[in-house]
This record gives sequence, structure tokens and C-alpha cells, in this order.
Amino acid sequence: MKSSRRTFLITSLGVAGVASTLALSRQAFADAPKVTEADPTAQALGYKEDATKVDKAKYAKYAAGEDCGNCSFYQGKATDAFGGCPMFGGKQVSNKGWCSAYNKKA
Ligand code: SF4
Repeated sequence: MKSSRRTFLITSLGVAGVASTLALSRQAFADAPKVTEADPTAQALGYKEDATKVDKAKYAKYAAGEDCGNCSFYQGKATDAFGGCPMFGGKQVSNKGWCSAYNKKA
């Protein structure tokens, strides 16, 4: 009896530890700076915070309906307004944004 209580305590401490580590890394992402359209990488990739404002003449591959929220690189949840993107070193991009590295999420 004594040992199963001990096991229970160790297990729950372990789970709490993992949960707080996850919460911390999510928090770190949430605090990452947002990409601005003036950012040199944003300029190079044609990033727009509002996908409908993409320069369609320059980026003919853009198709209506494409945005960061349905791009395979978007690290936020579908419901997050902003999420990290590896193209911008983990800085946050808008769920409704778009850049020329867009790759439709499978
Ligand atoms: Fe958005 Fe995808 Fe471009 Fe990142 S790579 S900015 S998620 S379209």
C-alpha cells in the first residue's frame, strides 16, 4: 500500500512537470515577436499580414483561400490568431497572412 502511494506521487509529479514544461514552451511561442511587413525576410517572401492584400501580379501562385492558418509551416493552432513560422525564425505570423513559401497543409 505504501509503495503504491509512493508510485502514485512520483507519477503525478512527473506528469505535472511535463505539463508545466509544455505550458512554458507554448508561452515562449506566444511571446515571440510578430513579423512585420517591413521585415527584410517578409519583403523577400512577399509576406502580407492579410493574405487578400498579396501582390497577385508578383505572386501568381497565390490562390484565394490560402493563408498561414492552412499552411504546413504554421506552428499555431488553427484557431490561434498568430503562430510561429520557421521561415521567420519562429517569429509569429498572422493566421490570415501569406508568403511565397506557402505550402498547403496536407
Ligand atoms: Fe505563412 Fe506558411 Fe509563409 Fe509561414 S511559410 S508565413 S505559415 S504562408
